[in-house]
Amino acid sequence: MASGKRRVVVVGTGLGGLLTGAFLARRGHPVTFLEAQSIIGGRFTHIDYQGFAIPTGAFHAFPGGVRGHLFRCLCKIGVHVSLVEPAPSVMVAVDGQRLPLHLDMTRSQSPVLRRLVGVNRRGPVTRSAARMLIAGLMGRDLPAAEGMRRIGGTEAGVRLLDRLTKFALSVPAEEASAVELLRSILSQRFGREGFLIHGSGSMIGRIRTAAESSGAEVRTAAPVRRIIVEGGHARGVEVEGGESLDAGWVIANAGVRRTLGMLGEHAPSRVVEQVATLRPACGFTHAVRSRNRLHEHLSIEIPLDLRHIDGIMPVSNLSRFLCPPEWHFALAYQWMDPAEDPEKQLEAGRRELLEHLGSGAEIMNTACYHSHNPTANIAQMIDQHGKSRPPAILPGIEGLFLVGHDVQGYGTAAELIGESCLRLWERLERA
Ligand SMILES: Cc1cc2nc3c(=O)[nH]c(=O)nc-3n(C[C@H](O)[C@H](O)[C@H](O)COP(=O)(O)OP(=O)(O)OC[C@H]3O[C@@H](n4cnc5c(N)ncnc54)[C@H](O)[C@@H]3O)c2cc1C
Repeated sequence: MASGKRRVVVVGTGLGGLLTGAFLARRGHPVTFLEAQSIIGGRFTHIDYQGFAIPTGAFHAFPGGVRGHLFRCLCKIGVHVSLVEPAPSVMVAVDGQRLPLHLDMTRSQSPVLRRLVGVNRRGPVTRSAARMLIAGLMGRDLPAAEGMRRIGGTEAGVRLLDRLTKFALSVPAEEASAVELLRSILSQRFGREGFLIHGSGSMIGRIRTAAESSGAEVRTAAPVRRIIVEGGHARGVEVEGGESLDAGWVIANAGVRRTLGMLGEHAPSRVVEQVATLRPACGFTHAVRSRNRLHEHLSIEIPLDLRHIDGIMPVSNLSRFLCPPEWHFALAYQWMDPAEDPEKQLEAGRRELLEHLGSGAEIMNTACYHSHNPTANIAQMIDQHGKSRPPAILPGIEGLFLVGHDVQGYGTAAELIGESCLRLWERLERA
């Protein structure tokens, strides 16, 4: 091994683990990925079912688009992806109309939508948002819904925000943090929602190829049961079955809770206590097909008049590579209230979705993200976002680095991972 290079073991091949392993392999470190499942990619890949790209999690959306952190991560490891960035990013379906909503804040919004949500003038909105951000940074955060009311938002405005936070963060606006939302928007540098033309699985495959062409090894069906810590330093891992692998650096991408479990008695008690109080986010995703065209636009549809369905991604309008040519294909997200009966919510959501999409639509698959597989092990609510999330480096343990959706950082969905990866990679380069 060249001097200054460390043997690296990556536990988990979710997006954060794969990106970080590929980055380190490119820098000349010998990297081994260990993945518990038989496929790689975690919640950011898809399974081909009869020609339909059914996601394990991510809807093939690439938040932040070409201006975002995730795109920068891919550039650093030499991976190219083709994106489409629809404008507007969102169509709000209300009273039989479709109103465009630009998530790129530099663009002006539809006057009809501005009147409906009560956010009319940019100046006062910007000033209120800045005040909220400063107060939040001083520890006085408030729910996103309350923030919307403070900038003069109507009840329709709060309802729209609620749909958006449920779709993007899997958290209702009454619980989502206003600061998280504002910082997420800022961290995306006013980016526009992108969409992966060849799907999430294709991007994962390219990251894997990039890692392997730099010498990395990928092992699937290899669950790690223990991270070996000696003298306050992570020295390697033990795989189910008993095999041990030595490492100079361990990159943990299995989620913070699982990682703490793998550390056993070495898990820092402060972080264990912090994580114990954090709530996971849950939801359902519905994969729908139809012989008839399902949407007339390319944008994420937010159906404001519906009760259960938060957003619909018109997949086949965005890319013809993700379903057979004779079909139309869409993915819908439904937030799940963990306090209510999941079966009843599921039934109501499925019924509502089929009515909304009209005759010919059929649900091919519904995935429930709950208990062992929540949409996010740690949600993005007040007190569990951004800086209040567990750190990438655990106190008292050297050589162990956490990456993934649960680690400190800002942004929606995979943008959060991109942001935290870039921060970690800078530290690793200095180490
Ligand atoms: C329904 C849904 C829709 C989403 N839509 C989008 C979207 O459109 N766009 C977007 O950007 N984001 C989206 N997200 C979020 C995105 O999917 C996640 O942020 C991202 O995939 C999480 O990546 P991660 O790095 O945290 O790893 P994870 O995906 O959590 O992967 C962790 C990996 O670790 C493995 N593992 C666990 N335990 C062990 C062990 N003991 N040993 C070895 N391996 C282990 C797991 O099998 C898994 O492969 C969505 C999420 C969900 C659930």
